[in-house]
Amino acid sequence: MAKMLINGEWTNAKSGKTCEVKNPANGQVVDSVPLGGTEEAEAAVKAAQAAFPEWAETAPEERAELLRKGLQSVKEHAKEVQALLTSEQGKPLFEAAGELQHFVHGVEFYTGLAGKIRGDQVPLPPTLGKYAYGLVLRRPVGVCLGIVPWNFPLTLMGTKVGPALIAGNTIIIKPASTTPLATLKVIGLLNEAGLPPGVLNCVTGPGKEVGETLINHPAVRRVALTGSSETGRRVMELAGPDFKRITLELGGSDPMIVCPDADVRRAVSGAMIGRYWNAGQACLAVKRLYLFEEIYDSFMEALLKKVGNYQPGDGTTKPEKPQIRMGPLHTEYQREEIEGQLADSVAKGAKVLIGGKRPEDSDLESGHFFEPAVVVDVPEDSQLNTEEVFGPVLPVWKVKSLDEAIQKANQTKWGLGSSIWTHNMKWANRAVREIDAGVTWINQIHFGYDEMPFGGVKASGVGHEHGPEALDYYLEKKGAVFGGLDWE
Ligand code: NAD
Repeated sequence: MAKMLINGEWTNAKSGKTCEVKNPANGQVVDSVPLGGTEEAEAAVKAAQAAFPEWAETAPEERAELLRKGLQSVKEHAKEVQALLTSEQGKPLFEAAGELQHFVHGVEFYTGLAGKIRGDQVPLPPTLGKYAYGLVLRRPVGVCLGIVPWNFPLTLMGTKVGPALIAGNTIIIKPASTTPLATLKVIGLLNEAGLPPGVLNCVTGPGKEVGETLINHPAVRRVALTGSSETGRRVMELAGPDFKRITLELGGSDPMIVCPDADVRRAVSGAMIGRYWNAGQACLAVKRLYLFEEIYDSFMEALLKKVGNYQPGDGTTKPEKPQIRMGPLHTEYQREEIEGQLADSVAKGAKVLIGGKRPEDSDLESGHFFEPAVVVDVPEDSQLNTEEVFGPVLPVWKVKSLDEAIQKANQTKWGLGSSIWTHNMKWANRAVREIDAGVTWINQIHFGYDEMPFGGVKASGVGHEHGPEALDYYLEKKGAVFGGLDWE
């Protein structure tokens, strides 16, 4: 059985209770983890609090070196970590390898910034004294909390651990209950490579109990959540009264607009990866596709051919080319949600052009498999348009003008990502200025680059992860005013 990691020690829940982690491809138990509760959450905060002063004073390059050692060890254990991720999450092994690489690259990015964090020197008016000046110091905030969802458990843990530790904070990670295993393995390796006890902890258990105890603890000064908009609202409610620093990376319904002059072949690939990677369970997935009428037919022909190549199956096996493996949906709940959204749209008049049902193969019966779908004639008041569609179903609309495309793109409560596929600079520029979203990719697949700040607007959240910008949430600014320097 796997254990939690608190204060550098592998730990069971005091209650002795455990929670099974099941493989979404076949329903078999992969392993169990302790079902942590209030007591374990409090123990983790105590450990993180105790470790903070020394870690904050450790030289930034030394902090980076310890993390680099840990990353090296993670790379050496890549096969084992990827296999764990596939078995608990469902994604095919090649996607698990991609996720681990992204995690390593993301944390490495912050190790590269360790010695580059600096404050400011500020000239002050002579009324304060002849040589008066101000300093703006940057200091770690203290104990941080990272709450992570199940769709990309490793990369989304890295986006919190990297900036937190490099800035000199200590952190507690709360993984999703269904995907704690690869996370515990990686956090264990980072600890074993030399992080002092208490600097990086991981508590498993229900979001409501463990998550809320951690958020409510007065010593926790910073909370980063990646999760649903509903959980984001709850985190804001709890963290607000104590003025904790929060970042909320929440749901999305990204639009993708393909213009008449687009490179259709590349745009089709963009839509494929954008919508169907991770079986469509991505915050920044392409969730609404708007095609100009001029390229509609050629785009749809190529898209349907490619979507037909997907073969749902166990992520540890590979189909013969040109078929592409798609893993199961993560839980039965996810599959039923997608089926419900699709049924609602079909009942209102939508047409399913391909997929959209459970595979008939009896070998797949014990997994949450679903055939990827392309849907047209989707009424705007139906769930495929009004809700976040967290699975491999792509609704497509035909548009006549950029005005219409942008107006439709903005008809949503979310504002995470968006893309436009065109070589017309004026159109690209309009999309960047007018689409209400945290990011607009131009001729690019929807993806969160480690180098670029990433975060949503509207119901997609507040704050940013990635990039040097993320460090701002892990460092507070302290002012110092030096007056009286000309006194005798
Ligand atoms: P979720 O909100 O159900 O769970 C996310 C995490 O929050 C889990 O660890 C869960 O245990 C914890 N949690 C749940 N209730 C809590 C509470 N009351 N207090 C504290 N913690 C609590 O989300 P999910 O279903 O795991 O993930 C899918 C959602 O995440 C989608 O909406 C997706 O769009 C979003 N997401 C957003 C981004 C982004 O960067 N914007 C990235 C990935 C996923």
